[in-house]
Parts: sequence; C-alpha cells; structure tokens
Amino acid sequence: MNFLSVDDSSTMRKIISLALKGAGHTVVEAENGKQALETLKTAKVDCILLDINMPEMNGIEFLKARKSDPSIASLPVFVLTTQDEESLKAEAMSLGAKGFIVKPFQKEALLSAISSGI
Ligand SMILES: [Mg+2]
Repeated sequence: MNFLSVDDSSTMRKIISLALKGAGHTVVEAENGKQALETLKTAKVDCILLDINMPEMNGIEFLKARKSDPSIASLPVFVLTTQDEESLKAEAMSLGAKGFIVKPFQKEALLSAISSGI
C-alpha cells in the first residue's frame, strides 16, 4: 500500500517510514496538513497517518479539508495521538478518522492497527 505520513516531527516520520517500508509499503511524507493536501494532488495514496499537533495546518483542520474535498474524502485516515488529546480524539472521530494509534507506539502495534482498521 501507499501511505502518506503527516507529522511535524522528522523523527516520528522516520520511525513511521521505517516501520511501513519494512513491511513492504511505500511512504511519502508531509510536515503538516497544508503540505499533505499539496502532496495528495500528485501522489498516489491509499492511507493517511495523521498527527494532530502541527504548525500551519493541524490534524483537525486537515480532516475538515479532506471531508470537503470529494477527491480525497474517502481516503482512510489513522490519527497518531498522545494520551492527553482525548477531546481532539473525539473531534477527529466525528470528522471521519478511521482509527487511533497512541504515541509512542511499537512498530507491531502500528502495523496491526492499520491492518485491522482498513
Ligand atoms: Mg506534532
């Protein structure tokens, strides 16, 4: 599968990319929601992994933009969140997030959350 990893932390993007590539997937990266929307115009993406707290355009704003754009509205999104983001988690769910992966996570937990949620 082709993944889009959206996170402002380069370390987090690196961890996610290594895990997914190790499992045979391809990964493109974006540093925030705005960059992700740009990337989606050209890249072939099957699934999005989305951070919440990011500059420029955060995860919630990205989910709203995704919902209003028919060309990307059906792409599955998994939110990578920290424990203290319960209210944002509820909002992300109401905006169509497919699932949540709590940071920090083990590589196996990431892969199994994705495969069970799609
Ligand atoms: Mg962040």
